[in-house]
This record gives sequence, C-alpha cells and structure tokens, in this order.
Amino acid sequence: MKIILLGAPGAGKGTVAKLLSEFDGSVQISTGDILRAAVMEGSDLGKEAQAYMKRGDLVPDSLIMKIMEERLREPDCAKGFIMDGFPRTIPQAEALKDLLEKLSISLDFVANLDVPREVVLDRLTTRRTCSNSSCQEIYNIKSSPPADDNTCTKCGSPVIQRDDETEEAILNRLDTYNAMTAPLIGFYEKEGLLRSFRSLQSRDTVEDIRKSLKG
Ligand code: ADP
Ligand code: ZN
Repeated sequence: MKIILLGAPGAGKGTVAKLLSEFDGSVQISTGDILRAAVMEGSDLGKEAQAYMKRGDLVPDSLIMKIMEERLREPDCAKGFIMDGFPRTIPQAEALKDLLEKLSISLDFVANLDVPREVVLDRLTTRRTCSNSSCQEIYNIKSSPPADDNTCTKCGSPVIQRDDETEEAILNRLDTYNAMTAPLIGFYEKEGLLRSFRSLQSRDTVEDIRKSLKG
C-alpha cells in the first residue's frame, strides 16, 4: 500500500501506521520518529530540529523535504509505505507531489483520521514514549501502560514523557495543526485522493482502511 495518514497530533497516526505495516510489509515513515532519533543521536539534523520540536513548532519545510527525498529513495519503500506525520503543510504537500512524480510513485489515497478534540487532548496528556531511539513504542498510562517498573515491554528501555508533551507544547501543537496542517484536507480533496475515517479505536480504523484499499 502507498498511503498518507493525516490527522491531529494524538489522532493515532503512529499506532495505525504500525498496525498497517504489519499486514503487508509496507514501511512506516514517520517524520516525527526520524527527527526524534536524530535529536537523540545528536546529529547535525537533530541539532537543527531540536528547538522547534521542543516548543511544538514545525521544523522548516526545506529540512523535512531533504529527509523525505532520501527516505523515499531507499529500496525498502518500493514495497509500499505508510506516511505518518508528513506532509504537514501545503508547501510540503506540493513538494511531495512533485517528488512522487519524479520517482514515478502513485498514492492509493490519503486517509484522514477524524478524532474529536477532547479525545485528542486526553490522549496526548496521558501518552508516554519509549526512550530508545530505534524503538519509540507508544504507551498510554490509562489504556496501554508500560511494564510495572516503567520500562518498555518491547525493548526494556525506560518509558518517558516526551519534551513536547507539556501542556503548553501540546496546545501549541494543536494550534499549529489547525493553522498549518488542517488545510491539507482541502488540498487532497481537490486532488481526489482524500478518504475520511471517523477514528476512535485504532484497530477498527485499520480494518476500515484495509477494506477501503480493497474496494
Ligand atoms: P505528533 O503528530 O504527535 O505531533 P510527531 O511525532 O509526528 O508528533 O511530530 C513531533 C514533532 O516533530 C512536531 O511537533 C514537529 O516539531 C516535528 N515534525 C514532525 N513531522 C514534521 C513535518 N512533516 N514538518 C515539520 N515538522 C515536523
Ligand atoms: Zn522500546
């Protein structure tokens, strides 16, 4: 499958992308995961991105497009991919359109995960993330907690609250989403690629997307 997941922070893009990738070996491409790994490694890219991310601001489009062009040229993308957290602005969506044309890749569709704001806010404040940069498993202190000693059940590393998961940064991320990313819904509607999914349970959403791919 070749799809883009659109949706507010906390809409469940990461969880849905992981579950979808288990079905047919399509790779999950999460710009957030790529950026967080770069920050943890202390690479040049990480140093540049860190301050933006901590505030809950977007990282500049030029930097993101460089990362994505490199990522899409890697051979594992040939089987298929699920993009999660990209594109996030109209300029990124336009640049992606050109890039996909250049690489002769066509998308199946863009799945918009539609989740009420209260649900999103509640999820973000209770979310925890594995601190291991190559794992980044997501937990929720209410619905899917880590192990009793607060470690990751997949890799054993400590599970932490992300820097950008303070209340202030969360509210900023939601505002940024409304201002910069929500307009992509209209963009992809015009492109004839948009499909919306009312999404409360990730597993149900995964089923709905898979049905939609077949139909
Ligand atoms: P969430 O969707 O929960 O906000 P992500 O893991 O997708 O979390 O992104 C975390 C942060 O990484 C964002 O707040 C932003 O600073 C940066 N980021 C991720 N993807 C992009 C992108 N496509 N464009 C600009 N910044 C991005
Ligand atoms: Zn882990």
